[in-house]
Amino acid sequence: MIKKTMCAIVAVAVLAACEVVPVQTEAQGGTTAVSQSYLAKLQQNQAVRRFVHVVEDVEPIAEQECRVRTRRINCNFWIVVDVRPDEPANAYQTLDKWGRPVIVFTLQMIKTAKNADELAFILGHEAAHHISGHIPRQKFNAMAGEVILAGIALLNGGDNAAVQTARRVGADYGARAYSKRYELEADALGTVITAKAGYDPIRGAEFFNRIPDPGDVFLGTHPPNAARIEIVQETAADF
Ligand SMILES: [Zn+2]
Repeated sequence: MIKKTMCAIVAVAVLAACEVVPVQTEAQGGTTAVSQSYLAKLQQNQAVRRFVHVVEDVEPIAEQECRVRTRRINCNFWIVVDVRPDEPANAYQTLDKWGRPVIVFTLQMIKTAKNADELAFILGHEAAHHISGHIPRQKFNAMAGEVILAGIALLNGGDNAAVQTARRVGADYGARAYSKRYELEADALGTVITAKAGYDPIRGAEFFNRIPDPGDVFLGTHPPNAARIEIVQETAADF
């Protein structure tokens, strides 16, 4: 299918006549010159179009899950693409200043996803962070860690500098303490959202096989990839 598309664009590419590379065509079985930059652009456009389809399918389901599972939070997801070409493959969830959930995908993330299931799973995972209230919970944990460690420093007769250090360390500890659990929670709920939207979460989670494994590090922010794949498989089996 892709090769046929290449045949159709050959004429345009030859006219452009820059950075030409040989491409095997299906119809003629021969070699034809096609602009490399044109192909890259075409692949990028196809990837973006695929992403738009995924957003159209997944966002309504994520919104529905959000309304069913939460009270008084903004469920109107805003999905944006960071088009800066140098930004590495990444996706994350944040809140705008009115509390609206924003999910950001970098262009590299969209381009490096192997299929629509991976994009759907990543989108479901990020939406799940919002539905599960992970940003406010993380802030609360950081605050609690800060207060506890600063309190211990004071009890131990620490001076002002010691209390400040304890506060920083405590906030960091508090924020990280639940981080891995939140990732697994988001993987589980993300699996549900992906499946309800008509995509395959197990195929989507194969994406974990291609990213560096953080391993089981104490106070690491992300769980080992194997644990993440396992929770996706378990949730998908029960679903
Ligand atoms: Zn996450």
